[in-house]
Amino acid sequence: MGMKIRVLDPDTVNQIAAGEVVERPASVVKEVTENAIDAGAASILVEVTSNLSGVTEIRVTDDGEGMAPEEAVLAFQPHATSKIQDIADLTFIETLGFRGEALASIAAVAEVTLVTRPRGSGALAGTRIVVRGGEVVERSEVGAPEGTTVIVKQLFYNTPARRKFLKSRNTELAHIYRVMEDLALAHGDIAFRVVHNGRERMATQRSGGLLNTIAGLYGAALARSLIPIDARNPPIRVRGYISRPSENRGNPSGVSININGRSISARQITAAVREGYGTLLPKDRYPVAFIDLSLDTGLVDVNVHPTKREVRLSREREILSAVAATVEEALAGCDLAHEAPTESMQQQITATEPDQEPVRPIAEPEASYAAGHRALTLSDRQLRRTEMEGGENLLPTMEPIGQVAATYIVAGGTDGTLYLIDQHAAHERVLYDQIAARRDEEPESQELITPVILSLPPGESAALRDLIPDLAERGFVVEEFGRDTFAVRVVPVTLGTLEDTGAIREAISDLFTDEFRTAPDRQEAVTHVIACRGAVKAGVLLTRDQQRRLLAQLARTKTPWTCPHGRPTVVAFGKQKLDRMFRRV
Ligand code: ADP
Ligand code: MG
Repeated sequence: MGMKIRVLDPDTVNQIAAGEVVERPASVVKEVTENAIDAGAASILVEVTSNLSGVTEIRVTDDGEGMAPEEAVLAFQPHATSKIQDIADLTFIETLGFRGEALASIAAVAEVTLVTRPRGSGALAGTRIVVRGGEVVERSEVGAPEGTTVIVKQLFYNTPARRKFLKSRNTELAHIYRVMEDLALAHGDIAFRVVHNGRERMATQRSGGLLNTIAGLYGAALARSLIPIDARNPPIRVRGYISRPSENRGNPSGVSININGRSISARQITAAVREGYGTLLPKDRYPVAFIDLSLDTGLVDVNVHPTKREVRLSREREILSAVAATVEEALAGCDLAHEAPTESMQQQITATEPDQEPVRPIAEPEASYAAGHRALTLSDRQLRRTEMEGGENLLPTMEPIGQVAATYIVAGGTDGTLYLIDQHAAHERVLYDQIAARRDEEPESQELITPVILSLPPGESAALRDLIPDLAERGFVVEEFGRDTFAVRVVPVTLGTLEDTGAIREAISDLFTDEFRTAPDRQEAVTHVIACRGAVKAGVLLTRDQQRRLLAQLARTKTPWTCPHGRPTVVAFGKQKLDRMFRRV
């Protein structure tokens, strides 16, 4: 294009650099709040204002040390920092900031107002500075309390490309709440308050200790169930709280880690925590854990990424094995007896009674023992929903013999083949195919007699609010009422056993997994969730008739051999294979 190579002007350089630090409103909240923490604040108030177009204003007020007038101007200069003097200082870094980039970056892409008065200096007036697009547009003396207030407006007003990448308001709010949760967990000695459009969304007490912070953020019930950990193996100290194995998640987002008061994401440490649980957790499950690592500052290199979310560790292997060992020991010293899967569920081999002819009406369960009774009617309703006429039979003929572990159907084929069928995976396939086939139709819904009420932590409720339209398209009616409380009033017929509110809760909680959030096709992901949660579960007794109906339904799907996740639904042992296994041939 004939463009000459040239050195970019400072404004452009700052805008480009800003992109690395300031990705979205939550990055502003993080940087400005970290400055307040570094300034020794005892309490920090974060006020967020938004309208339908997104976050319009972020205001962070602290009671920290404040700044003198000349410092206040300097603070906006790129690479101006009071926290280090040279690279050697990085080895002993105790503050969250050190790059001197945040305020300059934010001010390059927004309008920032800073009001500050130094603590205990006797100065009567404070300083007010307004910087817009990197230019100081106003500077005055004002009356101000000790401490600092930073107000950020019109974020990305001059970088439309970045503005375009912002997600919906609720997603951005969810990121903000997550940032604040992480900061609160890492700084139990500071009282945090987060307010959105005048409503309090989060509040933690000062010096309440980590457990109190956890209770404030995620509820007293979770906090009470946690197991404390504390082990000192110089040069590292591992403290925090970990969940009992029964409290587990499908993704690692329940593991929060901070190192020397810095909240970080560190896959390898999460993996070490997971490793400590060993076989106490199924392979693809993660615990909830709050890990607080204290390390010699010389072992942690925080200067890896502008957002400082990642760190490099020296002696990493030692650190990881200390984490894993601490978790393992805490669990070993803890009475988890009641966690063991019940014998009856695991080892049960149920040979169901042969059917009496003629076949009973399907609504009447054959087995009558009390415990299984409710489950049986439930499965019956689940199976009846997916009963359909016609369709080609794509599985070999098989006759159910019974169930193993109330999870696998054992069936025999006419040619002597032995089949094991995963009842949940099989029904999931049936449901998935049916929902997918009716994708373009209005989904059939039913109103719940009593709505399912969900109380969610702020981050999750923002995410759910965001999903309401997608859910409506798939037959859910979810209404928000009150703070972080939702009522699920209508659900797709495929999900709705009227009394099984558990399935509905589970379906909703699936919407918060990373897998779901990052799914390229929301509608497809919702279909997966409904299929999984609407399907007959593992660990549920089925009558022979129910087993037979399930197999018949599976046979009429287009791909009966795998579930929607690609796992097998049916495993076959041919007669020849059986003969070989018994050394008959
Ligand atoms: P860094 O935090 O990496 O030093 P920033 O751009 O975030 O860089 O901030 C620049 C400087 O402004 C800080 O080093 C600090 O001296 C001053 N500063 C920023 N925010 C505050 C605050 N809330 N209270 C006191 N000083 C602050
Ligand atoms: Mg900073």
